[in-house]
Amino acid sequence: MAQPQDVMRLDSFVRGQWTGSGEPAAEIHSAVTGDVVALATRSDLEMREILAYGRAVGGGNLRKLTFHQRAGLLKALADYLSQHKDRLYRLSFHAGCTRTDAMIDVDGGIGTLFSYAGKGRRELPNTKFLLDGAVEGLSKGGAFAGQHVVTSLRGVAVHINAFNFPCWGMLEKLAPALLAGVPVVTKPATITSYVAYELVRIITESKVLPEGALQFIVGSTGDLFDHLTCQDVVSFTGSADTSQKLQRHPAIARDAVRFIAERDSLNAAILAPDAVPGSPEFDLFIKEVAKEMTVKAGQKCTAIRRALAPAAQVDAVITALRERLGKVAVGNPESDKVRMGPLVGLGQRSDVLAHVAKLRSEAELVAGDPDNFALVDADARRGAFVPPLLLHCAKPMAATAVHEIEAFGPVSTVMGYDGLEQAIALTNRGGGSLVASIYSHDIAAATELAFGIGSFHGRVAIIDRDCASEHTGHGSPMPQMLHGGPGRAGGGEELGGVRSLQHYMQRTALQGSPRMLSGVTGRWFKGSPVLDGELHPFRYHYDDLEIGSSIPTTVRCLRTTDWTRFASSNRCSRERASRCG
Ligand code: NAP
Repeated sequence: MAQPQDVMRLDSFVRGQWTGSGEPAAEIHSAVTGDVVALATRSDLEMREILAYGRAVGGGNLRKLTFHQRAGLLKALADYLSQHKDRLYRLSFHAGCTRTDAMIDVDGGIGTLFSYAGKGRRELPNTKFLLDGAVEGLSKGGAFAGQHVVTSLRGVAVHINAFNFPCWGMLEKLAPALLAGVPVVTKPATITSYVAYELVRIITESKVLPEGALQFIVGSTGDLFDHLTCQDVVSFTGSADTSQKLQRHPAIARDAVRFIAERDSLNAAILAPDAVPGSPEFDLFIKEVAKEMTVKAGQKCTAIRRALAPAAQVDAVITALRERLGKVAVGNPESDKVRMGPLVGLGQRSDVLAHVAKLRSEAELVAGDPDNFALVDADARRGAFVPPLLLHCAKPMAATAVHEIEAFGPVSTVMGYDGLEQAIALTNRGGGSLVASIYSHDIAAATELAFGIGSFHGRVAIIDRDCASEHTGHGSPMPQMLHGGPGRAGGGEELGGVRSLQHYMQRTALQGSPRMLSGVTGRWFKGSPVLDGELHPFRYHYDDLEIGSSIPTTVRCLRTTDWTRFASSNRCSRERASRCG
């Protein structure tokens, strides 16, 4: 296994510089060999000053830019990262990632930046604030009206990430915050912070972001929460335990600090009754369950933890999954033969095996043996290896653990259902999940299932033969689509295109006279003053036009010939075209 040239020393990047006392605070071990790969250095960071610097310098710099200019930053950053991603792949092996796993993390993160850059240019105006909805008349005489506007918060976005996606996790939160004009303080999970550290190194080398737009904290956040205000936002991804602990911090309640949480999720895949063995949908279901169990060794927040099938198909499902999982080579993720690497560390392995033991009180292990499995090019005593483990719960309606315990590894439980109503009830027993997928070619069944489980899920993917070759997968959050879920999943929303900017912006009902509102928002509406000019508005250069410029004419009927004449008489002359650039 390729070693990092030296054990990496991980500093924080705060107030515009790399900072660390050099005193090691924590050793970070390779998931594969157990060797020390990095040392998180301790530095007594002044959290109050970090936040103040972010708000003043980063926020000030970002708020000077329009949405299009901020989108340009994201595009430039994505381009730069694309040229340097091999540095991230190399380190990802130590976190247990195969090349495919690393691409999901690294390329997925860069792709999210590109997506937000495109959306910022196409879907947002070239302004520093947004208008929300139409002007509302608020008085009889028309002298008082209202318009909702949306402006950037004047605080800092504090992003706390889980270990499983050190790159995607950071970038998918960073893109909407920066596009919204809010600077970021990001904190990676310590166990994979060396990958996140390298990512921030590349970002700082790129010199793309304005000063203060990004700060990076390795290790503890100390007393950071004590200094949060109503202008700051916390976006957390990780376990329900940590999320609840952080959400209970007095500052969160005191200042109504926005808190977005993405946490444990007992995601389900549902095989519909029409998807019998031999149908394309049955095969798609088997493929997706096996894939979700093994990609990133099942350490995905969206992985399929519960595989639901009509009771009559349970045996066929177990047989097909057993066969497919049996072909998955587990071992050193750098080996070409290996399809699944280890868990992120020995602690995570202990957690997963403890959770599997609890699940086995309600479910029988039907594939995989944690005590006896083949390994390729690796040592089971040193790396955090676990084989894919498939369970079968024979009485899912009476069970609780299988609907509540998330074994964050290559673990899934098959359960049979009797009728669509029961499938819906079982799926919703997850108590709120990020995603569920339905495998059906029958519109009636898919409709009943989708609307039966919709309110418990942030995303529902209906997968059938028609989208088989192009669907993006049960487990892939897409930047255009919402990622988050109610209840156990945290109640948060991320991504979803420009929707996610709302977390970092404040909606304000702006009220005033039509003249004032029109001038402040830069948009003319009925009732605002009309400016009579000497020329027809089309005769002015764009820069000389004012809001409300107009020319009064008598009413007349416009015919096609008028449009044609207008178009030909207003064709840009060479001279005008060069003036317009
Ligand atoms: P975790 O232990 O809850 O840690 C999550 C993050 O919180 C880490 O960055 C951690 O930093 C930080 N943290 C812990 N205590 C903190 C404190 N007192 N103040 C500030 N930050 C603190 O979760 P994990 O082990 O990284 O991830 C595994 C879990 O995350 C799984 O249970 C999985 O369900 C969930 N997850 C959910 C999603 C989702 O989108 N819903 C995605 C991925 C993972 P340190 O590492 O330095 O402790």
